Amino acid sequence: MLQSLKIELIKTKKQKPAADQLGFGNHFTDHMFIMDYSVDNGWHNSRIMPYQPIVLDPAAKVFHYGQTIFEGLKAYKTDDGRILLFRPQKNIQRMNRSNERLSVPELDVELTIDVLKQLIAVDQDWIPTAPGTSLYIRPFVIATQPALGVAPSTHYQFIIIMSPVGAYYTEGVNPVKIFVESEYVRSVKGGVGEAKTAGNYAAGLKAQEIAKEKGYSQVLWLDGVHRKYIEEVGSMNVFFKINGTVHTPMLNGSILDGVTRNSIIQLLKHWNIPIEERPITIEELYEASRKGELEEAFGTGTAAVISPIGELNWQEEKLIINGGLTGELSKKLYDTLTGIQMGKVHDPFGWMVEA
Ligand code: PMP
Repeated sequence: MLQSLKIELIKTKKQKPAADQLGFGNHFTDHMFIMDYSVDNGWHNSRIMPYQPIVLDPAAKVFHYGQTIFEGLKAYKTDDGRILLFRPQKNIQRMNRSNERLSVPELDVELTIDVLKQLIAVDQDWIPTAPGTSLYIRPFVIATQPALGVAPSTHYQFIIIMSPVGAYYTEGVNPVKIFVESEYVRSVKGGVGEAKTAGNYAAGLKAQEIAKEKGYSQVLWLDGVHRKYIEEVGSMNVFFKINGTVHTPMLNGSILDGVTRNSIIQLLKHWNIPIEERPITIEELYEASRKGELEEAFGTGTAAVISPIGELNWQEEKLIINGGLTGELSKKLYDTLTGIQMGKVHDPFGWMVEA
C-alpha cells in the first residue's frame, strides 16, 4: 500500500482560520487520504489528494444501512516544533474492532499509521500552536457498493480528514451539567455500543436534544435492560471518586473502550490511587452523595480530555458534586495528561508517537 501511495498536492492553499475562530470540527486541512477496497483487489489505490467532496452512487450501502465506522484522535505541535500523536495504535486497533463488528474489512495498523504520518507531514502547517489547540484526525470507512440488498458491501472507501480544533476550555477547566437519561437508551450488550459507528450517535441525538432544552450539556446513559447501571456520557467515558477510590463502569460490550479512559486508569494506578472497574448503579451514586462520600465525577474523551461533572439530574432530583466545582483529582489528571500530550510533562508510558 505504501509503495504505491500517490500524492497530489493542492495548487492554492486555503486561508487558515485564526486560533480563536477554530471551534471543533468546522475547518478542514488542504489534503485528505483515500484508499479503496474491493472484494477482488483488497485495499488498494491509496492516495493523498486535495480535500474535496466525494462522489457516491445514491444506492451506496452506507446511506441505507449505515455500514460505516470512524475514529477520532489528535496530533499536537510541541513548543520545540515536534509533532506528537497520542497513542495512535490504540485508535487504529479500536477501528479494526469496530470494522469487525460491522463486517467491514480490516486495515493494517502500522501501514495506516504510516499514511497518517504522511498526511500530517503534508498538512503540518495546519497544526495550530495556541494553548489548548490541536489537529483533530478523523479516519473513517464507508460502504460504497451501489446495491440495496442488506448484506456486507463488496466495496469500501477508507478516508482520513483532519481539522484544526480550538481550545476546549478557554477559561479554565469548567464542570458540566449532565442529564441522566431514563427513557431512551444508547445501546445494549450484544448490540454495537462498543463499536464507533454512526448509528450509535444518531440514536443518541433525540435524548441529547431534550437534555439541551432543559439546560444540560450532555446525557448520561443508563444500561438498556435495567435502566440502572451507569454506561457513559455522550462521547465520554465516566469516572466517580467515592471515599478516596475511583470507580468507572467496566467494559461490558455496550460502552466504548475509550483511549482516554484506558490512559486515566493507567495514570491512577501509577499514582497508587485505588481504581475499580465494575458495574455502578445510579442509586449508588445518589446514596454516596447523601452520605457525603461522592467526592468528584468526570468524563474522559479525546475532545475535552477531562470534563468535570458539577451536576447530575436523575428523574428531576439534582445532585451537586463537589459544590459544582472542578475537583482536585480531575484537575491533576487534566494537567498531567494534557502536559504529556503537549510534550511538557514526562511520558512514563511511551504514549506519545512522533509523527
Ligand atoms: N464514548 C463514546 C461514545 C465516544 O464517542 C468517545 C469518543 N471517542 C468516548 C467514549 C471516549 O473515547 P476516547 O477517549 O477514545 O476519545
